[in-house]
Amino acid sequence: MVAWTTQWANEADTQTFARRLAECPAIVNSSLSLQGDLGAGKTTLVRHILRALGVQGRIKSPTYAVVEPHTVDVCEHLPHRAPLSVWHFDFYRFNDPREWEDAGFRELFASPGLKLVEWPDRAAGYLPPMDAHIHLQAAPMNDAFPADDADTPRQVTVTPLSPTGEQLLAALQT
Ligand code: ADP
Ligand code: MG
Repeated sequence: MVAWTTQWANEADTQTFARRLAECPAIVNSSLSLQGDLGAGKTTLVRHILRALGVQGRIKSPTYAVVEPHTVDVCEHLPHRAPLSVWHFDFYRFNDPREWEDAGFRELFASPGLKLVEWPDRAAGYLPPMDAHIHLQAAPMNDAFPADDADTPRQVTVTPLSPTGEQLLAALQT
């Protein structure tokens, strides 16, 4: 499966990317891993995806909780516009593998819905196969991507790992 690399010049591009993902019907039953250094923009991307799907209210980061559940009350992609469950995982502080069983992560990953996973490497050996990897990296600044404090460019690589991942990639490339 062929990886695809693109650039975000600023956070508006991050939002556009998130909207394309959210518009793809395949998103409703998918697992996406988000990789990249601290500050690369993983949580920011998740927030834009959640907003684009229609999640309202405050969106907390799951860094301390490991998982933060969300619900899209009316999901246009589901029959009868049923609610969509979204789980935002952040395994940065995951250091007790027993938590995998105790916290019910196995059941969460097996149930229908969208799973967005930051720091997947820290749960290696437990995580089921993902549909796609998204890797974010702060891009070097140049004339094509002048940066100010708030908005900086990112290099983004999407690697599809399943037919669902291929559908999501196709939506991103339109
Ligand atoms: P991570 O979850 O990868 O550690 P965060 O999303 O928490 O990173 O932080 C990324 C920071 O970079 C945020 O403050 C965000 O506003 C900022 N930022 C600037 N430009 C971008 C961009 N193009 N895409 C994503 N985040 C950006
Ligand atoms: Mg984060």
